[in-house]
Amino acid sequence: MLSGAGMSAESGIPTFRGAQNGLWSRFDPEDLATADAFRRDKALVWGWYVWRMAFARAANPHAGHMALAKLGSIKPDLAIITQNVDDLHERAGSWQVLHLHGSLFAPRCFACARPFEGFEIPESVADLRLEPPRCTHCGGYVRPGVVWFGESVTREAWKAAEAHARQCDLMVVVGTSGVVHPAALLPAIAKESGARVVEINPISSAVSGNADLAWRSSAAIALPALVEALESNS
Ligand code: NAD
Ligand code: ZN
Repeated sequence: MLSGAGMSAESGIPTFRGAQNGLWSRFDPEDLATADAFRRDKALVWGWYVWRMAFARAANPHAGHMALAKLGSIKPDLAIITQNVDDLHERAGSWQVLHLHGSLFAPRCFACARPFEGFEIPESVADLRLEPPRCTHCGGYVRPGVVWFGESVTREAWKAAEAHARQCDLMVVVGTSGVVHPAALLPAIAKESGARVVEINPISSAVSGNADLAWRSSAAIALPALVEALESNS
C-alpha cells in the first residue's frame, strides 16, 4: 500500500496540490518546503510547519485509515508506505508504517541532525512567523523532521520501500499524484515484479498508467469497501 496526501484529505488536512487554506493561502507550499527557504527565512518556514503540526494533531483518522488498521491486524504482512508526514495511520492503529518523507513530529537540528526532544506543539497557531528553537547540543537551528524538495529520501527507507514493492502481490496506491520521486517509481516497480496495482483516486494521475484498476473514489469510501472485499475472500 502506498499513500499520499489525498489519504489525509478527508481528515481535513489539505493536499499540497489542492487549495491551501487560511493563513497560508498566499504561499506556494513547494516554495516553503525546501532547505533554501529555511536558510532564507527560518521563522516563516518553521511557523508554517508548526501550523501544520497543530493542524495534523487536531485532525482525526477517517474510515479509510481505520479499515487499513483492521486489515493489518488480520494480514500482518501488510506494509503501508506513506509520503505523508502526519501520524493518522498510526493513530488509527496501524503499526507497519514506513514514512518515506519523514514526520512532522520528529524535529531535528539543521546543523548536527540530532533529534530535538520535547518540542511542545501549540494548540493553534495565529502567527505566520515563529522563531525555531535552538539545538541543545550545538546551538544550531531546529528544522522539521521531513524530507524537503531537493533532499533525498533516506537510503534505509528507500531500500525497505523498494523491497516491499518487489515482493508484494497487490499494491494499492491511494491519494498520490505520482509526481514526487522516488516514491512515484514504486507502483511501476511493483507492476514489473508481477504485482497487481490498484489506484484509489477521484481523478486520474501519473500512477493511472500503471494501474490494473483505477478506482475513481475517495480513500474514506473505497478503502473500507476494499478491506471488506479482501476479508470476505480470505
Ligand atoms: P499531491 O497533493 O501531489 O496529490 C494528492 C492526490 O490525492 C491527488 O492526485 C488527488 O487527486 C488525490 N486526492 C485528493 N483527495 C483524495 C481523496 N479524498 N481520496 C483519494 N485521493 C484523493 O500529494 P502527494 O502525491 O502525496 O505528493 C505531495 C507531497 O506532499 C508528498 O511529498 C507529501 O509528503 C507531502 N504532503 C503531505 C501531507 C500530509 O502528510 N498529510 C499533506 C500535504 C502534502
Ligand atoms: Zn545541533
